[in-house]
Amino acid sequence: MYRAPIEDISFALNEIAGLRAAIDAGVFPELSSDLVDAILSEAGRFAGEEVAPAGKIGDTQGAVWADAAVTTPEGWADLYTRWREGGWNALSGPEEFGGQGLPQMLGVAALEMWNAGSMAFALGPTLTMGAVDALEKHATHALQQLYLPKLVSGEWMGTMNLTEPQAGSDLAALRARAEPAGDGTYRVFGQKIYITYGEHDFTDNIVHLVLARLPDAPAGTRGISLFLVPKFIPDADGNPGARNDVFCASIEHKLGMHGSPTCTMIYGDGRFGDAPGAVGWLIGEENKGLACMFTMMNNARLAVGMQGVAIAEAAWQKAHAYATDRRQGKAAGYTGEGMAPIVLHPDVQRNLLTMKALTAAARAIAYSCAHATDMGRATSGDEARHWQDRANLLTPVAKAFATDIGVDVASIGVQVHGGMGFIEETGAAVLYRDARIAPIYEGTNGIQAIDLVTRKLPLSGGEHVHGFIAELRADAEAVRASNLPAFGRSPEKIAAAIDDLEATTRFLQDCLASGRMQEALAGATPYLRLFALAASAAMLGRGAVASKEADRIALCRFHAENLAGETAALKERVMEGAESLAEAAKALG
Ligand SMILES: Cc1cc2nc3c(=O)[nH]c(=O)nc-3n(C[C@H](O)[C@H](O)[C@H](O)COP(=O)(O)OP(=O)(O)OC[C@H]3O[C@@H](n4cnc5c(N)ncnc54)[C@H](O)[C@@H]3O)c2cc1C
Repeated sequence: MYRAPIEDISFALNEIAGLRAAIDAGVFPELSSDLVDAILSEAGRFAGEEVAPAGKIGDTQGAVWADAAVTTPEGWADLYTRWREGGWNALSGPEEFGGQGLPQMLGVAALEMWNAGSMAFALGPTLTMGAVDALEKHATHALQQLYLPKLVSGEWMGTMNLTEPQAGSDLAALRARAEPAGDGTYRVFGQKIYITYGEHDFTDNIVHLVLARLPDAPAGTRGISLFLVPKFIPDADGNPGARNDVFCASIEHKLGMHGSPTCTMIYGDGRFGDAPGAVGWLIGEENKGLACMFTMMNNARLAVGMQGVAIAEAAWQKAHAYATDRRQGKAAGYTGEGMAPIVLHPDVQRNLLTMKALTAAARAIAYSCAHATDMGRATSGDEARHWQDRANLLTPVAKAFATDIGVDVASIGVQVHGGMGFIEETGAAVLYRDARIAPIYEGTNGIQAIDLVTRKLPLSGGEHVHGFIAELRADAEAVRASNLPAFGRSPEKIAAAIDDLEATTRFLQDCLASGRMQEALAGATPYLRLFALAASAAMLGRGAVASKEADRIALCRFHAENLAGETAALKERVMEGAESLAEAAKALG
């Protein structure tokens, strides 16, 4: 069973991402290291003792749809109530609306733990937190007063409605429409698919944030507006009142995440209410809905990245426990009776350490991204802009790398279990099945890579990324200057990975500047992986130098000498792969 890795999380937050330094510098006056420790350990207890046991029943029973209603797996609605009554939904929520206003780093750390306990359970609250963010930044004061206290406490949950059958990655194609009703409200019509927790029995109201087009809106993404559409329209006291004209027509049968209902939502077909049309309220300005939704999506992208870290951690723990128990064959140096535990075989050790190092790498990047977001909010002027750029740069990397390694690590976890990994009872297979969605939703990882190259490398006139690379070089130099023999060849390996990052970054910036867009797009995915491997090699070095703990140095060295070297091959794919890709693609049609 999952046990929250409090020490590793605390280490990544404090020694790698910079939380301790920020607390010491007085950036978060409300926060002390003791408070951080207390929150982490209580979240860890809840995740391990309450959320994790619910995961299996969620997978086997799944969510059930009948006549527009969805019943979540046995015990989940009660679990949700206990979870929100524990104040967990409100952890990073705005204080003005009842939240605890704690830095996002803590919210993200807790998210890791909920998701490792059960990703299908944790996904719902993740969307509520995104909705809170979007409403806090873009909704009118009246809407904030009405909805935010209930969303912050978790009494109501939020959803995110972008996708339609013809509009997935390309939201320009979306057709849902909204008409002004003449009284300040709108009527929303259309179909949305794949809506996570679009219907459920956790809360007595659900607040949908829906993208739709107004009459005469410009074509494409410039003509999209954002609407708040509650399942029940609040009455004069703010309690759920009349049923709105929106319902869940069906839920999907999926590879994994069985407990999380994935809903087809129908807006405005006249099933409920006096006349067809779901009553909605505009969020932000007309035709600027995508920018508002991006507030929610940026938050959700990091949250999905945390799902990758979480699944990887859960898979690593399970595989490690199995490998110390399972016995097969002989192992060098094993003097015990009978067959050796498989954890003593070098190939199994390689698998386990790859799992552990990739998990630590993704955690380092994701927490650094959360830190940048917090610093962007806590500072002002140029400093705030610097941190916002940093959060923007790291968000696609955190989302895509962490979710890719979530799948990789869960797959290795199945492998470590041998045949038992393929058998459901060990729980290794469900992690692999659940992990597979994370590289797809919240913008596929291919789209994240394109975002990194085309929108994030140009930040601050192309200079921000080079400032980041300079910081990584300082980390590599600190590893070298530590003169600790236990680092082995880490200094040169980390430095080489950073060289590859610098060369490919300049190459791609050059492609963008000279209009060689196809080359830039062709190299985007290998570049994102290279970026993450180089950055995480340096970050693990930073942490190991700070702690000087033998295990952390050894893991940093394993990453540097076994994983970071991949950047050399990735560099070739980025800088030389486009032509062969274009030639071979002629056969694809
Ligand atoms: C379980 C689940 C839950 C979900 N939850 C939600 C939710 O709550 N709310 C919501 O709105 N949506 C949700 N989604 C939808 C999800 O966000 C989309 O599936 C995702 O954005 C991809 O869109 P698509 O499925 O239409 O794939 P497509 O856009 O058709 O993409 C297919 C492939 O083509 C690639 N591709 C597409 N365009 C490009 C391009 N320009 N350049 C390069 N490659 C490209 C993609 O990377 C992908 O590999 C969910 C989906 C699932 C399966």
